[in-house]
Amino acid sequence: MLGGLARWLRAVGYEAAWEHGIDDGDLVERSRRTGAVLLSSDRPLFDRKLVRSGEVKALFVPRHAPVLDQVVFVLDSLHLGVRELRCMACGGELLATPHDEVTEEAPPRVLATCEDYFRCTSCRRLYWRGTHWARIEATRTSIASRLVP
Ligand SMILES: [Zn+2]
Repeated sequence: MLGGLARWLRAVGYEAAWEHGIDDGDLVERSRRTGAVLLSSDRPLFDRKLVRSGEVKALFVPRHAPVLDQVVFVLDSLHLGVRELRCMACGGELLATPHDEVTEEAPPRVLATCEDYFRCTSCRRLYWRGTHWARIEATRTSIASRLVP
């Protein structure tokens, strides 16, 4: 239920995984195995043994809060800062990619105006410093400014 949160946690530099409809037991077990912090708005999940014992680190996230408030809440609660942007689709690292390697993929109007390209090392998605990127950067800056110092 926190898919939007996962996307924005990737945008502030964290490897967030999210799966629609995953079984509570599987989710807890996956967190135990990977050492990932479990984020959920599902109260009963916090009654599970592995969570209560602290073996799985978990954080309750208010479900109805606006997604950027959720991001600020999670970063503050876990004492994390804004790190380098990761792929918002999958959380992979972004690698600077030369202009001449993207001429087949990027739209002509983008190729004509944009110099900086990045490719996700995991899902291969291509990003460029366009208006969408600028909006993401502005949001990242706003998130960083709201964190407790
Ligand atoms: Zn990706």
